[in-house]
Amino acid sequence: MSDLQAPLRPKRKKGLVDFLVHFRWIFVIFFVLPFSTLYYFLIYLGDVRSEMKSYKQRQKEHDENVLKVVKRLKQRNPKKDGLVCTARKPWIAVGMRNVDYKRARHYEVDLSAFRNILEIDKQRMIARVEPLVNMGQITRVTVPMNLSLAVVAELDDLTVGGLINGYGIEGSSHIYGLFSDTVVAYEIVLADGRVVRATKDNEYSDLFYAIPWSQGTLGFLVAAEIKLIPVKEYMRLTYTPVVGNLQDLAQDMPLKKRPRRRGIKLTM
Ligand SMILES: Cc1cc2nc3c(=O)[nH]c(=O)nc-3n(C[C@H](O)[C@H](O)[C@H](O)COP(=O)(O)OP(=O)(O)OC[C@H]3O[C@@H](n4cnc5c(N)ncnc54)[C@H](O)[C@@H]3O)c2cc1C
Repeated sequence: MSDLQAPLRPKRKKGLVDFLVHFRWIFVIFFVLPFSTLYYFLIYLGDVRSEMKSYKQRQKEHDENVLKVVKRLKQRNPKKDGLVCTARKPWIAVGMRNVDYKRARHYEVDLSAFRNILEIDKQRMIARVEPLVNMGQITRVTVPMNLSLAVVAELDDLTVGGLINGYGIEGSSHIYGLFSDTVVAYEIVLADGRVVRATKDNEYSDLFYAIPWSQGTLGFLVAAEIKLIPVKEYMRLTYTPVVGNLQDLAQDMPLKKRPRRRGIKLTM
């Protein structure tokens, strides 16, 4: 037999894995999609339920839930119990961070009730929200008021707590900075059970600057005050085509003709 006729690789015997890969559509269509739809519907119902409560009721629940967190932290025996972390299941979190610490001995604190928008202050242009409020939820509330968070991460599921303790960013960050740069105050429960409000110029200013990207290592975020910006219902985009070497274009083009924001001139 010539080299050309010889098979490149001996044929592998088909196994269960091949079968599952080949028929994965069955799993996706009949299990994954219905489960996802149901899951998102339940989240949506939770958002609607939260919207139906008065702001006074939400604040009352917030205070009660903060007390529960404090109580849970005070019950912890540092010699026996593991490290403190949120009880959020890794499969719910959008982040792709390694969460092995949640498989080791750990002391869970449940923050699942912290999912209310506590206040929209149109005078101060501030939204005060709990950490599990997500981008879809806050947008549905603020946009009808012609307001928006300055930095809105693109996935509806991303939470305020995750975007602050991780490092949230989006297209508008070119103007407003990172998600955490639009926050003016954090309400934090520290490991010893103290509840503090950190701003850039109060006694907890060090905490204020340390919270972003701390991955929850400094305390539990229970509320954040975030800047709002005015928005209109529609945004007009003007595309300005540019051709050629970027450096030459940037140097040669008169300032007023330069496209703002990556070749797109935005006017509102
Ligand atoms: C497909 C995809 C698209 C994405 N798009 C964007 C995007 O457009 N913009 C962007 O900025 N990011 C984006 N991300 C990244 C995303 O912001 C991070 O993954 C972030 O972790 C948000 O996930 P989460 O809200 O589920 O938070 P989690 O993953 O649950 O939390 C992130 C971290 O914050 C900590 N944390 C959460 N809540 C609290 C709390 N209340 N107190 C203390 N610590 C807390 C957690 O312990 C964890 O360390 C994207 C990720 C994926 C997978």
